[in-house]
Amino acid sequence: MSARDQLDAEASRCVQCGLCVPKCPTYQQTRNEADSPRGRIAIMRAVWAGRIELTDTARTHLSTCLTCRACESACPSKVHYGRLIDGMQPDLQQVQSTSLRALKWLAQKPSLLRTALGAAKHLPGLGNELPAAGKAFTAFGRHAAKGTERGQVALFTGCVGSAVDGATLLAAIELLTRLGYGVTVPAGQTCCGALHLHNGEPAASDRLLQRNHEVLAGLNMPILFVASGCGVQLREGLPGLPVEEAGAFIARNWDAAVRLRLLAAKVLVHEPCTQRNVLGTQASVYTLLGRIPALKLEGLADNDRCCGAAGSYHLQHPEMAQALRSGKISKLQSGEVKADWLVSSNIGCALWLAQGLRDARLPVVHPLTLLAGQLN
Ligand code: SF4
Ligand code: SF4
Repeated sequence: MSARDQLDAEASRCVQCGLCVPKCPTYQQTRNEADSPRGRIAIMRAVWAGRIELTDTARTHLSTCLTCRACESACPSKVHYGRLIDGMQPDLQQVQSTSLRALKWLAQKPSLLRTALGAAKHLPGLGNELPAAGKAFTAFGRHAAKGTERGQVALFTGCVGSAVDGATLLAAIELLTRLGYGVTVPAGQTCCGALHLHNGEPAASDRLLQRNHEVLAGLNMPILFVASGCGVQLREGLPGLPVEEAGAFIARNWDAAVRLRLLAAKVLVHEPCTQRNVLGTQASVYTLLGRIPALKLEGLADNDRCCGAAGSYHLQHPEMAQALRSGKISKLQSGEVKADWLVSSNIGCALWLAQGLRDARLPVVHPLTLLAGQLN
């Protein structure tokens, strides 16, 4: 069976019940059936069967999909919608912004990406457009467990995360070593390939997955990630490897003897689509941060809807992306809702939300960064 026939077989499992339609963020915005999962599946099947041409209009309905996969969790037939839209992407990606093309190229060379983003932050004008991100991660190698060793884990850094969010990776290492785990951070790892898969370059994505497989498979230890977007790509692209979210692993292996300092603050929790709709690990964030004495935790508004970042989606479809982000943060921007921190387990979402909240001066960090900051 050809790849196209396999996709059509998967799509044929859709019984057109429509239960996914009201869950779809783009349908919620436009109220157009063609911008819903059911509508998009119907368009894909009609194109594959040759009943319609892939016109600009059809292409727009398909390419405005966020790949958030909220539809999958609503589907009684368990249609793997993400596989369908990813399979369609090579036919959709005709025009890509310069920034997206540059990001895809740099993502394959994480050390160059680190240098490029570091330099760009200091350019007049551009520095303001880039997220108020921290330092690059450079602590590759082995980190010994503190105290008696309970086990060994490997840490996946991710391309953008290692370029601008070294703090989260260092926080993960600090927490894991305090819990008694030796942490290996292999230097040869690369981008997970999600950016390429969702932008119509499955071959490039496969090459990156293969490179990561060569680096990680021989370690024979749990492979932990901090960015939920990378995690989904590794879990689904390298199904034979023991890949797990670092936060969920830390929550599961928490040691009650590890003390956390009190933090009298209010924290809002953003639940990224990859974490909520695919990994299903969002509860571990509340469990972990709930260990900090006096901390008040609340879910961010609209947590069941994509924030609009959606990997590189906001670069291609800024209007839809901003409309979705606005639903989550407008009350924070206006001061109607107040908080001290916003946490997100996915670097892409965190940067996008932080950009929208720059004037509100609300810091956006990974939950592990907040947690490690409270270690005694
Ligand atoms: S992945 Fe998200 S945006 Fe795309 S059809 Fe499904 S629910 Fe809608
Ligand atoms: S919920 Fe599943 S079966 Fe029903 S219309 Fe949506 S994709 Fe098709």
